[in-house]
Amino acid sequence: EKRIPVKELLQSTGFGKDVHVKGWVQTKRESKNVAFVALNDGSTVHHLQIVVDVSSFSEETLKNIHTGASIAVTGTLAESQGQGQKVELQARHIEVYGTADPEKYPLQPKRHSMEFLREIAHLRPRTRTFGAVLRIRHAMAFAVHKFFNDRGFFYLHTPIITGSDAEGAGEMFRVTTLDPVDPPLNEFGTVDFTQDFFGKETNLTVSGQLEGELGAMALSLIYTFGPTFRAENSNTARHLAEFWMIEPEMAFYDLEDNMNLAEDFLKYLVQYALEHCLDDLQFLDNRLQEEEKNKKQEDRSPMGLIEKLKFVVENQFERLTYTEAIDILIKSKPNQKKQFVYPVSWGTDLQSEHERYLVEKHFKKPVILTNYPKHIKAFYMKQDEDGKTVRAMDVLFPGIGEIIGGSQREENYDKLYSRIQEMKIHEESLWWYLETRKYGTAPHSGFGLGFERLILFVTGMGNIRDVIPFPRTPQNAEF
Ligand code: ATP
Ligand code: MG
Ligand code: MG
Ligand code: MG
Repeated sequence: EKRIPVKELLQSTGFGKDVHVKGWVQTKRESKNVAFVALNDGSTVHHLQIVVDVSSFSEETLKNIHTGASIAVTGTLAESQGQGQKVELQARHIEVYGTADPEKYPLQPKRHSMEFLREIAHLRPRTRTFGAVLRIRHAMAFAVHKFFNDRGFFYLHTPIITGSDAEGAGEMFRVTTLDPVDPPLNEFGTVDFTQDFFGKETNLTVSGQLEGELGAMALSLIYTFGPTFRAENSNTARHLAEFWMIEPEMAFYDLEDNMNLAEDFLKYLVQYALEHCLDDLQFLDNRLQEEEKNKKQEDRSPMGLIEKLKFVVENQFERLTYTEAIDILIKSKPNQKKQFVYPVSWGTDLQSEHERYLVEKHFKKPVILTNYPKHIKAFYMKQDEDGKTVRAMDVLFPGIGEIIGGSQREENYDKLYSRIQEMKIHEESLWWYLETRKYGTAPHSGFGLGFERLILFVTGMGNIRDVIPFPRTPQNAEF
């Protein structure tokens, strides 16, 4: 018999029909004659209510139907008299595939803390919250491809193992084939890492950008969408050691074109979620509003989740330069008693507290900051005429801070070369990158969107570890 997903059954009006459904028991309520089983198969955030006539089933079967058990049910679809549901299934036959000892099953039918759920990452997709997050994550990945495909961009696969350090930030994981017990030694008697990976020094990629630029210099419009790795021991709610990044790169785009694309892209993704994930968003919105009730008045978010998403789609992002932002930050008294933890002056790299102040307190909308000081940005950004700033742009979002980092790239060979020298970057490892400026160079721009930061924003979750199925952090890399 064909299994029908719960999502489909809940929308069905074929009452009286015989159907077959499979899934996991969320809860069971039992009275003398009848038991109500809430069944979920992951196709939707909602349950299907299974009505079980106690007298028609063996005690053994009834005993094995409990939270966490996996079952198959055949029965008749009926209009439900219960509140909040239109459809129920009157069970005629139930097969129990797998039981879950109610004493030991870690997922009890109550709300667990996010910290606890991280410890049982192998089971947390079964919770309603994580089911919702994972479905939204799926929809966003699909929407990323759709957005670019509809605009004539080509999906370029950039390498995971690479010799280049795009950001020059020294946050790379080394890839090595060296024997840990008996590694080759150099003339100083220490490990000869130049023999990594069959004779070459290689790392896990921190960004596909540099290779992406090579694609843009041939196909004009490309994007990458793949895993990136950063060996940063930053135990924040916004950093992972392994995260996914979307990096479009566009020939013949200047900084203005780049900002327009970034704003359109983010609005498209949020709108897509509103159109395709409304059930899941509604569930997460209610969940958040319950949490908000426990907060002090002044800490409460002024908008609900869905309201916040609509606001982003409907309002223009504020655009200003880094220099203007610094002025605002210096003049601001974010909180009379407490200044920023990191004080700001022209030249400091902005921390998320500064970014969030601009977005949440000052402009009360998403912000795009441009023209950052060159010494806090990577070598490849196009220099402004003033010699001090570069054509960088960061998109800042409420609750997140930086969600996108991008720039117009330096296309002039001499300028790029002298910047590489100035920053003491190992130029031999970038000979191929430099050649694109030697042969048929062209103005071009691009940016990187951290996929998990997008999901954080869209789901309203508070910690980046809770929007990826298997978070890689300094504490967790087991499975
Ligand atoms: P941050 O200032 O937050 O550390 P960054 O400036 O180091 O970010 P970029 O190198 O500009 O990051 O990377 C582009 C985008 O990738 C960022 O805007 C962000 O959305 C995302 N990102 C960067 N580092 C991480 C990380 N460790 N975990 C998750 N997403 C990240
Ligand atoms: Mg960083
Ligand atoms: Mg940054
Ligand atoms: Mg950045």
